Amino acid sequence: MSCRTIKGFGTYAVNEPLKEISIPRRALRETDVELEVLYCGICHSDLHQIHNDFGHTMWPVVPGHEIIGRISAVGNQVNKFKVGDLAAIGCIVDSCGSCEYCYHDTQQFCENGTTFSFNTPDRYMNGEQTYGGFSQSYVCDENYVLCVPPFEDLAAVAPLLCAGITVYSPIKHWKIGADKHVGILGIGGLGHIAVKIAKALGAEVTVFTTSKSKLDDAKRLGADHVVLTTDENQVKEWTKKLDFILDTISAKHDVNPYLNLLTWQGALVVVGLPPEPLDVSAFNIVHGRRSLAGSNIGGIAETQEMLNFCFKHNITADIELIKSDQINEAFLRLEKNDVKYRFVVDMHST
Ligand code: NAP
Ligand code: ZN
Ligand code: ZN
Repeated sequence: MSCRTIKGFGTYAVNEPLKEISIPRRALRETDVELEVLYCGICHSDLHQIHNDFGHTMWPVVPGHEIIGRISAVGNQVNKFKVGDLAAIGCIVDSCGSCEYCYHDTQQFCENGTTFSFNTPDRYMNGEQTYGGFSQSYVCDENYVLCVPPFEDLAAVAPLLCAGITVYSPIKHWKIGADKHVGILGIGGLGHIAVKIAKALGAEVTVFTTSKSKLDDAKRLGADHVVLTTDENQVKEWTKKLDFILDTISAKHDVNPYLNLLTWQGALVVVGLPPEPLDVSAFNIVHGRRSLAGSNIGGIAETQEMLNFCFKHNITADIELIKSDQINEAFLRLEKNDVKYRFVVDMHST
């Protein structure tokens, strides 16, 4: 298949800063749209990938999977979008469409391999991989592109495309509502949106943070209670009080003290991806018939549902909008946990 060359921000090796590089984008297939990228969020998964934390980064890597843009071209069989429409692309840009998981709209678990927005083989470009949203434009089948409700601040919508769906999906799956007490571990990009979504559903929310600087802010975000986790006694005060805990922590940590905060039949759901294995004492889950579970982003239909839900409840991310020449500085600050609460790159500043 023919392709053209565009500019993106990527890197050829671990520890090398991102720089402007040339990347291929496929020519439009009949059901493809082209999106001119306006804004792209910086997720901690982008940082894990450029560090090759999971050992499967394909070089060069152009990260970015929280993409807001404007449709700039459409294939001749496209009927969901027209040129000029606002649209969004998240983590998933393709899947087989015929396996059991795709059938159930959980394309993130596709048996034949989900195509992620970067760092995965492109199904239509032999031998080529996908390159993410830190780029001028993106080409994607229209069925994997989301409609953007008329939010006021589009840049603050970008983080919903990964952080938003990653926390929305488990919160819905575990039926969180007004009768539930929810704990959120870590308030970074994912965690701060989780607080807003859980509150919009009426839950009582307790935030667990290592950052003194976030204690007051957590309340502003809507949390009912805030716990500084560097103080073990503060953590223990919540023993057997929580129905559901969402663990968004990006680095190695001990989940055992948090399992003990779960009430009878409660669930601790891991979405954070520390590269190291979790070390769990069986006693902490057999007692009280507790569950330890995980969740991974969310399917396309659920991502659209989440965007509509956030629009209805006036939920966007708290962001720091940066220019494209600040990407490397932003990654360094994210690594130091120095962002409230998501960097978003204004791609038009390129
Ligand atoms: P982030 O903005 O960096 O937030 C992570 C938060 O974890 C930090 O703000 C901090 O919260 C806490 N934290 C960091 N280091 C810690 C440590 N050593 N001990 C305890 N807490 C620590 O990252 P993010 O973008 O929200 O992503 C969070 C994790 O989820 C990453 O691992 C990312 O790869 C993963 N992720 C998974 C999925 C999925 O589908 N499963 C999707 C997206 C991202 P406090 O300052 O409040 O302590
Ligand atoms: Zn499939
Ligand atoms: Zn992400």
